[in-house]
Amino acid sequence: MSENEETKTTNFITEIIEEHNETGRFDGKVHTRFPPEPNGYLHIGHAKSICLNFGLAQQYGGKTNLRFDDTNPLKENIEFVDSIQRDVQWLGFQWDGEVLYASDYFDQLYEFAVQLVQAGKAYVDDQSAEEIREQRGSLTKPGVNSAYRNRSIEENLDLLKRMRAGEFEDGSRVLRAKVDMSSPNVNMRDPIMYRILRADHHRTGDDWCIYPTYDFAHGQSDSIEGITHSICTLEFEDHRPLYDWYLHNLEIHHPQQIEFARLNMSYTLMSKRKLGVLVNEGIVDGWDDPRMPTIAGIRRRGVRPEAVRDFCDRIGVAKTNSVIDYALFQHTVRQDLDPICKRVMAVLKPLKLVIDNFPEREEIDFKVDYFRHDNERHETRKVVLTKEVYIEEDDFMEEPPPKYFRLAPGREVRLMNACLVTCTGVVKDGDGKVVEIHCRYDPDSLGGQAPDGRRVKGTLHWVSAEKNVDATVNLYENLFTVENPSDVPEDGDFRDNLNPNSKMVLEGVKLEAEMAQADPGDRYQFMRQGFFYLDPESTVGNKMVFNQIVPLRDSWAKINQKG
Ligand code: ATP
Ligand code: MG
Repeated sequence: MSENEETKTTNFITEIIEEHNETGRFDGKVHTRFPPEPNGYLHIGHAKSICLNFGLAQQYGGKTNLRFDDTNPLKENIEFVDSIQRDVQWLGFQWDGEVLYASDYFDQLYEFAVQLVQAGKAYVDDQSAEEIREQRGSLTKPGVNSAYRNRSIEENLDLLKRMRAGEFEDGSRVLRAKVDMSSPNVNMRDPIMYRILRADHHRTGDDWCIYPTYDFAHGQSDSIEGITHSICTLEFEDHRPLYDWYLHNLEIHHPQQIEFARLNMSYTLMSKRKLGVLVNEGIVDGWDDPRMPTIAGIRRRGVRPEAVRDFCDRIGVAKTNSVIDYALFQHTVRQDLDPICKRVMAVLKPLKLVIDNFPEREEIDFKVDYFRHDNERHETRKVVLTKEVYIEEDDFMEEPPPKYFRLAPGREVRLMNACLVTCTGVVKDGDGKVVEIHCRYDPDSLGGQAPDGRRVKGTLHWVSAEKNVDATVNLYENLFTVENPSDVPEDGDFRDNLNPNSKMVLEGVKLEAEMAQADPGDRYQFMRQGFFYLDPESTVGNKMVFNQIVPLRDSWAKINQKG
């Protein structure tokens, strides 16, 4: 058994669970839920919550529900419901039983509301949203009781029934919990339970013209499902007294709400709403654009679910908010791909190199390991050397600066796995740009070793100009130019921080001929470049499109291995 399988996760949440298990609070049961609002695609922050909720249940032999928190018909739709299920399953998790919806409980929630009215713990308020907000006060200003707060139970019951029956206009009345307008916790100042809203719901259609608020729906849905540990992010800490108040006053099963720090990551955004703006304004090519921090985008980029789960393990769960370095995510992805990806040669920006002393039409085949980094794996492919090859534009400089060990006039370098070549001259176009390089090769260096053991510093990847396949490659940079894209001056907008160069499309990339065998969905290391994914959505017919998953340069490992 590997170390990983043996080590159980421990954190402050597992401590709470173990304490419950000892005291028998939930009879040793662990039943969690993942409760997304279907108002956008899931992002990597949600992945943290998914891994946590499903992971805890797995660790304690429990269950996890998938429940859509669909209480706001104005923002929610079925595309999001479908995408969220796909994303949870792609991450490798399966919820218990059927998919659940808060809207499944609309009848029951209404009954709960009636129950609180009957107990004198809820009332109908005729004030406008504006007036209610005004009266609620602030952290420094206590709230003011509504003039409608002391209505009789009978009147409240009657008004609530008529709200439900559609007798009143949208926004004209609300149902509020009668808690405490002087509470230091603003959430406890008679929060709204129901609002009147005539909107078509994606599941209940026009059955309802009143909808419960998040706070009134959430805890009660947890309770109905027998959830034991209701795990949410820190911003709900101040809502916990209300969560507890409803369950206590309704005298129903009472799960434990536990808050943890949400994932924030540098150079990107964790907000469905803002990500939706990028999609709707066409700033990115959809929710699954490989630059997006959405699970769909990460998948489309070519990252494997194993890497996302590993990342969520590494960042752990804590009780204080922090920002995770995006470089750590990339580092994790690299570590996942490094052992499993074949190494091949791809020339992204081709520059022709002619070997003048190489016989015309001759082909020399080399058998080259796909997994030269792994002594256990011996699969090879054929690499063909011909008189004309392509090298990377950046691998030649006419006037090289110090420490540039690649090709330059008069200099000898190695064509990887093939032979040594010495540059004898260049051809330029009318603008003085080098368009072709001429070399001579050492016929005794076939295989790539100098016969006399002379040292050659540079090793270049290359592709035969006669035997190759064409591809398109998408290169990516961060979507934003600043660490915290939401940090904008008052008159600014997060869009001001977009990186105009976040996507670069390279056409006419040259790959080794054997790459004609690649299947959509395959991942490779293009040597000296990075990891690439043959995008199944974009690869149609024989046009191959690769997405850059991560470059090879690992800034996170560099920083963190010092000292
Ligand atoms: P967003 O603002 O992106 O829509 P949300 O919290 O409103 O986020 P929900 O659909 O309500 O999104 O979230 C479902 C679950 O995922 C919740 O339990 C929420 O706490 C959790 N979650 C959301 N964002 C993060 C994050 N960045 N890190 C960890 N968990 C998160
Ligand atoms: Mg939300």
